[in-house]
Amino acid sequence: MSSSLFPQRPQRNNLLRSWTGPLTDMLVRVPGQFGLGQVPANYLPDAVTPSVCGFCSTGCSLHIHLKNGEAINLSANATYPVNLGMACPKGWEALTPLSAPDRATTPLLRDASGKLVPADWHTAMSAFAERFGKIRATHGPGALAWLGTGQIATEELALLGVLGKFGIGIAHGDGNTRQCMATAVTAYKQSFGFDAPPYTYADFEESDVIIFVGANPCIAHPIMWQRVMRNQRSPEIIVIDPRTTETAMAATQHFAIQPKSDLVFFYAIAHQLIKDGLIDQDFIGNHTADFETFREFVRDYPLSYAAATSGISEERIQHLAQLIGSGKRISLWWTMGVNQSHEGTRVAQSLINLALMTGNIGKPGTGANSITGQCNAMGSRLFSNTTSLIGGREFTNPQHRAEVAEILEIPIGHIPETNCYPYHRIIEGIESGEIKGLWVIATNPAHSWIHQGKFKTILAKLECLVVQDMYHSTETAEAADILLPAAGWGEKDGTFINSERRIGRFRKVRRAPGQALTDFSIFKLASHAFGCAELFEKWSSPEATFHILRRLSKNHPFDFTGIKDYDHLDQAGGIQWPFDGNTNPPDSTERRLFSDGKFYHPDGRARFIFSAPTPLPEPTCSDFPFTLLTGRGTSAQWHTQTRTGKSAVLRKLHPASLHAEINSQDAHRLGIQNADLVEISSRRATIKAIAHVCTTISPGQVFLPMHDSTTNLLTYPVFDPYSHQPGYKACAVSIRSAQA
Ligand code: SF4
Repeated sequence: MSSSLFPQRPQRNNLLRSWTGPLTDMLVRVPGQFGLGQVPANYLPDAVTPSVCGFCSTGCSLHIHLKNGEAINLSANATYPVNLGMACPKGWEALTPLSAPDRATTPLLRDASGKLVPADWHTAMSAFAERFGKIRATHGPGALAWLGTGQIATEELALLGVLGKFGIGIAHGDGNTRQCMATAVTAYKQSFGFDAPPYTYADFEESDVIIFVGANPCIAHPIMWQRVMRNQRSPEIIVIDPRTTETAMAATQHFAIQPKSDLVFFYAIAHQLIKDGLIDQDFIGNHTADFETFREFVRDYPLSYAAATSGISEERIQHLAQLIGSGKRISLWWTMGVNQSHEGTRVAQSLINLALMTGNIGKPGTGANSITGQCNAMGSRLFSNTTSLIGGREFTNPQHRAEVAEILEIPIGHIPETNCYPYHRIIEGIESGEIKGLWVIATNPAHSWIHQGKFKTILAKLECLVVQDMYHSTETAEAADILLPAAGWGEKDGTFINSERRIGRFRKVRRAPGQALTDFSIFKLASHAFGCAELFEKWSSPEATFHILRRLSKNHPFDFTGIKDYDHLDQAGGIQWPFDGNTNPPDSTERRLFSDGKFYHPDGRARFIFSAPTPLPEPTCSDFPFTLLTGRGTSAQWHTQTRTGKSAVLRKLHPASLHAEINSQDAHRLGIQNADLVEISSRRATIKAIAHVCTTISPGQVFLPMHDSTTNLLTYPVFDPYSHQPGYKACAVSIRSAQA
């Protein structure tokens, strides 16, 4: 659609191309320009081996260059169907964090004087088993918990889950995926009957209208953005986000809605689609349920309501509705701007509803598509055995428990019959004294958890904190009673599942430093220390574990029994689930879900799910008149920066200190100049930042990158009631100049 209502389509942004060149560009570079530091002068690899990147969920394949069996460099894999020879800065620098001086190289135990002192593995694991065993014996399994991650291999997180719940008898387990993807999981389960992101990356290239909601792929998923740039259909690219993000700047239309006005906004679009008759009656009638009650519900959401709430004119919202109902190929994509909200599940479902009512699902270039965050968030969603029983099953379902017991050859009595606490309830349990032992694996909650100041106080209440990590220097590792040194990506074998459900293989290409062990090996050691090793004898290696997981997948929506072995994954360029080898297309065919219109509910129909919007939990007021938005800083930064912060190359690609985006009108009113030091305060803390005075943020809002160790001192602990995901995106703050 073109209209005078909308700005002219800007020139396509080529900023990213400077570092996402094809493989051939990279091979002509001389050593030293890679910025890796460890490239020898006589650079000439003996061999090259593919491995999927261990940062984000895009799942790019990297060619690791080997000399004498050790990785010396890498380049992007030009033949892999995901990244097609491209990589983002994190991928190019993936080997560098492995050589950091603060790698944990030996187990550490906190002694009577409070110091962490080196120990051997036997001593450390014995101490772990003895201290957790004592807590369990005194207070029961409910006094123990673990917090895992979407950053380790599927095989590792599955072994952790079964060891924790069925072996050691830890009642509560969750992972850092709760912080990013729980909302999408819940929304899909309720709407489709199973957690199933329906798309394939080819949909970026095959859409006529690409709608990003609370998503900034230009920097958060840069290779996905490159796939958008390959679209030959001259698509409308629409960004719905309070900030003028990098993606909004490159879009054809930007809707800078007021923070958390999204639910009303999308209900009003549904209202307008119905009013204008722009819905797909056949699809609704044949493949969905509950549309009539949804139709009645959205009668109360006219354009005028959405305009008043979102700050977008009725005319523009109506044009957007007409575009969505135009019959073109519409795809809706979302990330943290939707998921990290006090009502994120319903917002995600408001997007799913739009796709269903216009029949935009199961066809090329369509879909209600959640983009996942971490490299193996999708593996965690299926196999972590935390709040859901392993393999997309339910603890509360006797048939599911029996199936798992039979496949895993575990006595059924070892499988809990109830769901465990999600992340925030585990934290509350520590605060109340109910949980006394915590095992943290490859995540850094003392930095990343919402309302961080309170979290650090709560952590000190534990009787025993065990941290398993690559580094001894993370905020969480520094608080540990027992530190278990872990190998990182590149130092072990396994598989990840990417955002489009593609299972890809990564490899050991160098030795872990000192005594550090793979997470898989540490879990095996723990099984011996806790006296339950015989339950996991068949979990003898990552590949043996992969075959156990294959068996768990049989006849389930994610059935991947057609994957023969790890080599098959290499040969095929990764394989998307489902792939049973019989009913699915050949390995390499990109596949999206629901092309047959059949969903996973027993009646085969998708559901329209909705409820009335709820007020912002911490609205602005005269003392705290600004809304704080948080998010990704740059494409060179990853989460709490435990890895990306180790690369001098990546550190040059973002500001060295914390910068706050402040609107120029607000800055003028408050007497703040660009680059001034400012204080930002919430009801929980005050932090300092450098003012970046700009127009990318609207008046009354301020933006901070999430990577800084102080940002989460400010955030307000509120959680979506269905997914239990924290709402990092909107709390009330004040700003004042802190110039001397
Ligand atoms: Fe790695 Fe993600 Fe960058 Fe690809 S886009 S290279 S998977 S961090």
